[in-house]
Amino acid sequence: MNAEIDTRIVRGACPHDCPDTCAFEYHVKNGKLVEVTGDKNHPMTQGRLCVKLKDFASHHYNPDRILTPMKRVGPKGSRQFEPIIWDEALSTIRDKWSGVIAEYGSQAIMPHAYLGHQGVLNGLTAGDAFFNRLGSTIAEKTYCESGSSTAWLMTVGPSGGLDIESFVHAKYIIVWGMNMTSTNIHGWPFIVRAQEAGAKVVVIDPVRTRTAKAADWHVQIKPGTDGALALGPK
Ligand code: SF4
Repeated sequence: MNAEIDTRIVRGACPHDCPDTCAFEYHVKNGKLVEVTGDKNHPMTQGRLCVKLKDFASHHYNPDRILTPMKRVGPKGSRQFEPIIWDEALSTIRDKWSGVIAEYGSQAIMPHAYLGHQGVLNGLTAGDAFFNRLGSTIAEKTYCESGSSTAWLMTVGPSGGLDIESFVHAKYIIVWGMNMTSTNIHGWPFIVRAQEAGAKVVVIDPVRTRTAKAADWHVQIKPGTDGALALGPK
């Protein structure tokens, strides 16, 4: 068989609950996924994947992956499930929902799916059209995130995000309490570019992290003194 025809790259994106949503290239050989790499041509993620996704191809073939619907066959919490086929899953849901709607109305059904289940690309819109048509209760889906966002807005007000690509024009960048080289791998290259263009990079962190080592000035405060430092500058 011709190896050129037999090997192909399928484009995709990271399915994890992560706002970076890295652009992926799935390397498929003889119909089998052999490797997952980052797409170097993507302007933001630039081919970099975090360690969680380094061996994603092997996750795909993990024997513990759930590949069929699972039906609970014991009491809740007993962890007793058995695999069923899709037709059975769909007809079970249809019968149960029809009963709920007949007795209580369609608003008695409330969908709950969010990023943790689906990843950023699917989690915010999964099933919306279907549930709108059904007339179900529409919730924001997330409960933890909307609660914390509301508390943030009520406490400190709205805060505009920064355009990371504009960092290259900055002259002075402060990275406060963040180990960007490990936890913000797609933001860090823009800071490096700014630094190369002459910006001064200051890292405030009690720990001498890799990010702190790469800074022009590491302000190594004692743990818990951030507030005093923040109130100090005039
Ligand atoms: S940083 Fe990691 S988890 Fe986040 S989108 Fe990229 S590969 Fe996925």
